[in-house]
Amino acid sequence: MHHDAIVLGAGLAGLCAARDLAAGGADVLVLEARDRIGGRVEQVRLPDGRTLQLGGEVVGRAHTAYRELARELGLDLVPSYVAEPGEITRSTPEGTSAGDPPHWFGPGDAALHEQLTAEFVAMAASVDPDDPWAHHEAAVLDRLSVNGWLRSRHASPAVVRLWEIGQLALAAGSYERTSLLAALRKHAAVPSKGHYDYEDWEGLRLARGSATLAEVMGRELVPRVRLGSPVAAVDVRPGGCAVRLAHGETLTAGAVVCALPVGPLRSVAVTGVSEARTASLHRQRNATTAKLAVAYDEPFWRSRGRSGLSESEGVLGSTWPQGEGLLSALVPPERYGVLLGVPPHLRLPELLAEVARMFGEHAHEPLAAHLRLWGTDPWTQGYVTQWAPGDVMAVGPLHGTHEPPFYVCGSDQWVAGYMEGAVRTGRAAAKEALRHG
Ligand SMILES: Cc1cc2nc3c(=O)[nH]c(=O)nc-3n(C[C@H](O)[C@H](O)[C@H](O)COP(=O)(O)OP(=O)(O)OC[C@H]3O[C@@H](n4cnc5c(N)ncnc54)[C@H](O)[C@@H]3O)c2cc1C
Repeated sequence: MHHDAIVLGAGLAGLCAARDLAAGGADVLVLEARDRIGGRVEQVRLPDGRTLQLGGEVVGRAHTAYRELARELGLDLVPSYVAEPGEITRSTPEGTSAGDPPHWFGPGDAALHEQLTAEFVAMAASVDPDDPWAHHEAAVLDRLSVNGWLRSRHASPAVVRLWEIGQLALAAGSYERTSLLAALRKHAAVPSKGHYDYEDWEGLRLARGSATLAEVMGRELVPRVRLGSPVAAVDVRPGGCAVRLAHGETLTAGAVVCALPVGPLRSVAVTGVSEARTASLHRQRNATTAKLAVAYDEPFWRSRGRSGLSESEGVLGSTWPQGEGLLSALVPPERYGVLLGVPPHLRLPELLAEVARMFGEHAHEPLAAHLRLWGTDPWTQGYVTQWAPGDVMAVGPLHGTHEPPFYVCGSDQWVAGYMEGAVRTGRAAAKEALRHG
């Protein structure tokens, strides 16, 4: 059967693209490998009625495309954990502290941290997030790692450690292996006074869980979504594209909108587009993560004056409360291999022991717990985009661009991943496809 457009992948990006294409009058079909829609957003309903989110969860005030879509779909956004009272916890092998400064800071470190933050923010103002390649020192900034830059600015080891623990808390890949240009670009996309503004990036969440966005779009799109349909090959021709499924069936369309993460996309044979286009897509990499989501009968961290937000040098990189008595935690890419090496039956108890060290023994008594290994999930193979030194220049200005009738979207095609990137690029791809007819 022939369609106007075939969308590959029913994550937020693919669903957004399909929804806008359908609204524009196109006959669209979405092909999804899994038996569910939503991709990296997924949630489960607990017997007590609470919702536990296993993937993408919070958005920020600066995430305008996501907020606009939520408004269109009639979904309420409410303040996230950022509004939670209590202090941040920092946990390292030599101790745990609450609030600022962290326990490893000595005299002068706080002032140095502030000075370097101001320098970073000022530098970010010179980067165009849509065209970082145009920066007069683009190649130089891209070659430097963030920690390399910090050391070149005479940051003390204590300050480097604070930046690093914060970055690993986001599970976005060590600052030793992150391009300075990429970090500046991310900041320029959502400018703030600080180095990473939690309110701008993470201050909101959908009241009924982030997966409701996908569910509502999915309901609108039935029967245009085919589940259990992994795509194996795509041949792009101006007169008509052919999409071959893993089980051999071939479908045709006037255009293809690729909304696949960059990892799984590497296993799809794409022909008929320029070598430069595929080379750029295949050059992108992802930070891997695992997410632990735990439900307790009460938010026991509050009795210690803690917010539940933590930055940690354990196997866990961070925790935060996702709702009343619900705790989220991320394992950063640097420690993902360590987690995989732990016998499966010991993983949860060992991770809960880390939570207990920060917030108390009640951590060992969850009502429900889910450990989701996104980094080795075959249909994700990652989490958010990671930009190692040199990657911004190597991926190049084709990042996030289209080659009609082959359109590209997905959070990996925005500056730094995130649900905002999925919505933004999905809608932009549909607009472009409709413009080209
Ligand atoms: C643990 C975790 C926590 C996160 N936390 C946040 C957060 O708090 N805030 C935030 O903004 N972002 C967060 N993110 C990131 C955010 O969830 C993602 O960036 C976003 O949801 C990605 O949407 P997407 O549509 O681009 O990709 P995906 O959601 O990955 O969708 C791609 C789809 O393609 C399908 N697919 C793959 N291969 C094939 C194939 N060969 N054929 C057909 N289909 C295929 C997949 O099954 C999937 O459904 C988090 C992600 C994870 C994993």
